[in-house]
Amino acid sequence: MELNFTTFTNIIDGKPTTTAETRYSINPSTKAPNPPVPVSTKQDLDDAVNAARRALKGWAATPWDERRDALLSFVKAVVGRKEEFAGMLVREQGKPYMFALLEVAGVERQIQGLATLKLEDEVVADEGGRKVVKRYVPLGVGGAIVPWNFPVMLMMLKISHAVLTGNTVVCKPSPFTPYTGLKLVELAQQFFPPGVVNVLSGDDNLGPWMTAHPGIDKISFTGSSVTGRKVMESCSRTLKRVTLELGGKDPAIILPDVDVPLVAAQIAFYSFFNSGQICMATKRIYVHSSIAKEFVSALVAAAKNFKVGDGMGEGVFMGPVNNGMQYEKVMGFMDDVKKTGGEVVLGGDPARFRYKAEEKGGQSGYFIDPTIVFNPSEESRIMKEEPFGPIVPVVKWDDEEDVIRRANDTDMGLGASVWGKDVERAESIARRLEAGSVWLNEHIFGVATAPFGGWKGSGVGVENGREGLVGWCNVQSLYIKGEVKSVL
Ligand code: NAD
Repeated sequence: MELNFTTFTNIIDGKPTTTAETRYSINPSTKAPNPPVPVSTKQDLDDAVNAARRALKGWAATPWDERRDALLSFVKAVVGRKEEFAGMLVREQGKPYMFALLEVAGVERQIQGLATLKLEDEVVADEGGRKVVKRYVPLGVGGAIVPWNFPVMLMMLKISHAVLTGNTVVCKPSPFTPYTGLKLVELAQQFFPPGVVNVLSGDDNLGPWMTAHPGIDKISFTGSSVTGRKVMESCSRTLKRVTLELGGKDPAIILPDVDVPLVAAQIAFYSFFNSGQICMATKRIYVHSSIAKEFVSALVAAAKNFKVGDGMGEGVFMGPVNNGMQYEKVMGFMDDVKKTGGEVVLGGDPARFRYKAEEKGGQSGYFIDPTIVFNPSEESRIMKEEPFGPIVPVVKWDDEEDVIRRANDTDMGLGASVWGKDVERAESIARRLEAGSVWLNEHIFGVATAPFGGWKGSGVGVENGREGLVGWCNVQSLYIKGEVKSVL
């Protein structure tokens, strides 16, 4: 099938469909408009849900291995066109081309990992002429709601969970990054029967319509904690199953024995990669006071080399933030630092960024230089909230109990890391951190066989791992007795 990256449609029941109304998003590096995309109506959603419902019986009855093989062939086709997907990803998301390529190509490792897992019937008791079998039955029609920071990876993971487990799905990309999501599902039609994987692009109405829709059995949502609460509230009315992958405020605890330049360079990477727009970026840095000065200098030295610019530019490490709303949000954090204190040791001049964005008649992108704030107030927004942009605080610690308490003193609990040569000490700290993923001497890395999810306000349920697949199933205990015996 031809796949072009110039026209974009919904895909319902295996067919491209258009809408009367269209909209577009912009390239955040240039503010130039990207092509038109559909604005779906309630009727489009009904059509997609009905198609998914019709496809369900056949897909759920398709053997697991066949579903897995279809998925792996689909993934191969996506990765086979990685340059085209990556080019579109740069134009809609803003990230540098090399990282866009990495996101598209990285889908293969993740999904191959997930595809090694299988939920099979399990005999959990066999006695007294009675066998009890634990079964995993597909939930039905899923709704996949995706944010704008990793639109390819996150949509592919949601589709993978759904189709592996025998569910059908209606996908909704973010209105800021609808393009790659629409094309992924267009390509998926070559590998799945009509109606198994559908996609709708829309405006801000579409998400709430999906969470309220009585024909959708589960919502798999990735996005902010604020929206996640609304999603759960809406889903509660129809008792939909939910998986919520939400925001993070990941701490990194640096022990006194680290190789300072090496670790500072790593932390700079994990703070500013994707311009800080990663749920599990390092968002609070706790460095031991005995090395604080040296560490901050090394962090600044590493981060100031990060080239900021158009994702298609040579050697660019950081693209713009994705959209105007996000830009203003990050600026709000900068303004708050000015009010509440802390030493801005790199970047951080809001007036300069505003000027940059407005020069050339507003045609320049949403660029923000990497910004590091040393010793902000513990009560400041930069210590408490998720900026989701390239600004990170560094604070000092002396006492181990105290730093563990401070690291856990947040309503988020997505990830955390501990850095030190004394691995035993680092691990003993790591085991006391309240987060879904905790790393020693690295951050962010993930394997699809390990569950990924947030504690506290960072989420409900998990994606990946066996538990991620179980989240797409009803569990059934099947009691098999060969003959009827009197109970008296
Ligand atoms: P967002 O919550 O604004 O939007 C996410 C998606 O939800 C979009 O598709 C949006 O259109 C849709 N949406 C908005 N309002 C809705 C509603 N009321 N009902 C249903 N859907 C609705 O988030 P964002 O700004 O796109 O993404 C950034 C956030 O996502 C950050 O907080 C980040 O930490 C989080 N995130 C989490 C993970 C994770 O795995 N935990 C991964 C990536 C991003």
